[in-house]
Amino acid sequence: MVQQDQDKVLADTERVVGRQALRNNVAAAVALADAVRSTLGPKGLDKLLVGSDGSSLVTNDGVTVLETAKVEHPTAKMLISTSRAQDDEVRDGTTTTVVLTAELLVNALELVDRGVHPTMIASGYRMCGPVIEQTLDEISIPTDDSASLSSVKTSLAGKGDVGLQIILSELAHAAASTTGSGETEHVRVLTERSGSIKDSKLVPGIVLIKARVHREMEMKPNAGRILILDGGMEKRKPEIEASLKITSLGAIDAFHTRDSADLQARVDALKAANIDCLVARDGIEEEAHAMLATAGILAYRRVERPEIEHLCRATGARPIFDVEDIQDEDVGHFTSIREEKWQGVEHTIFEGSQTQGVTVVIRGSTAMRLEEAQRAFDDALGVACQLIREPQLLPGGGATQIALARRLRRHAETIPGREQMAIEGFAAALESIPRILAENAGLNPIDELLRITAAQAENDSAWQGLDVNTGQASDMGKAAITEPLSVTRHAIAGATEAAISVLRIDDVLWAKQDAQEPDWQTDEG
Ligand code: ADP
Ligand code: MG
Repeated sequence: MVQQDQDKVLADTERVVGRQALRNNVAAAVALADAVRSTLGPKGLDKLLVGSDGSSLVTNDGVTVLETAKVEHPTAKMLISTSRAQDDEVRDGTTTTVVLTAELLVNALELVDRGVHPTMIASGYRMCGPVIEQTLDEISIPTDDSASLSSVKTSLAGKGDVGLQIILSELAHAAASTTGSGETEHVRVLTERSGSIKDSKLVPGIVLIKARVHREMEMKPNAGRILILDGGMEKRKPEIEASLKITSLGAIDAFHTRDSADLQARVDALKAANIDCLVARDGIEEEAHAMLATAGILAYRRVERPEIEHLCRATGARPIFDVEDIQDEDVGHFTSIREEKWQGVEHTIFEGSQTQGVTVVIRGSTAMRLEEAQRAFDDALGVACQLIREPQLLPGGGATQIALARRLRRHAETIPGREQMAIEGFAAALESIPRILAENAGLNPIDELLRITAAQAENDSAWQGLDVNTGQASDMGKAAITEPLSVTRHAIAGATEAAISVLRIDDVLWAKQDAQEPDWQTDEG
């Protein structure tokens, strides 16, 4: 009876339960990891992504590959969102996260087949958390300026050519150091399709690709006050067009005179508040240009919202809606405003607080190269900012993962329950990172893994890892192959959480899809 009711309730649903559900979910995770594992590390291969509109993109970036892939399986989607979270929060380590999650799941499935309950495995995986935390704290070392720059370079290894990597990592490092805030939003990125990547530069201040509204306006080489208008300075349109009834010949003139007086009143209000520069999101009436110039106010119109946000941060201004209601705390401060012509185009540079606003101008000759450069720069900037917030480094080249695996195996011995097997499974999953790094470099994964493990034991150092450029086990500090502690910690934690949540699923209900309905996956795009 109850069963019958259930069947009725789930009439339009396909149901997969228990071990089969887990098996399907693991298969989805593995398929996804397989799509990106060959991109891992500096010797990782590139992928050619072709969009449904025929557009193409060559990339080595795991998260870009994943986001372009048309994925339907819910587990795969969950993995993509874990990888995206890694990208949003720490900008790097996205491929690692996906590969690690899949390995954790494969090892879990093996244990399930040997009779260990998924709950027990999840509990064993969780037990690894504190051991990992503690070990990472022990291995990591404080960074300094040059070590941070090396780490930023490591994050770009494999992305584009070496020249590009050097230029972009130096720019990212300099931008992050100049702001010193550890906030990526404090760095504005401007891409310009002219010149070559070598002409890219860091400009202290916020750059707009704009000239002042009127030639007669004077530039402001000295410090001054800036007002940001979330709107424009245009004639106030009559509320109802039809109400403007032309009854006599002078009516239109009178109306215009009133309008002009109104504009003048607004310019006077700016002057009374000692405003030196006005930046408006919308238009500024032609007629007001001369009035503003006469009042000694420099003005810019139609400035986009993201640029407004950068200007607000860099000057401390708060956008207002009506110039006739200026409060002193809304007014921002700049140290200079100047115009420069770059490749024949006017640019305006607002200097304010540099800790809150610098611009990196990335140049390139083709749209494709610029796009790849911008993505690489974003990663490098993310890593540079991470290192400002938490200036701690870990060894790369699989050293950290091997050190963690060794520690976890020793810890597993102390656990009498079945969790012991899960902890060993976790250790083996971590070792997949050095294995894949070796594999992608054309080295033998098993030999390399054994070699680094032995090198760590022999030197009693967690910093022994694999340098894929030389193919040698060596000290990652000396080889300058390092990663921010926050990136690695976040990748491992994210993969653990994702794997555990898949392990907890033992019932998958698929709603039967109506062919007429738009695909439910489109909400991901
Ligand atoms: P992710 O998306 O996870 O950041 P990457 O393709 O950027 O993936 O690869 C990062 C991995 O490459 C890290 O484990 C890092 O330690 C490793 N790596 C970087 N440079 C080297 C190198 N010269 N030798 C060995 N491993 C390296
Ligand atoms: Mg990376």
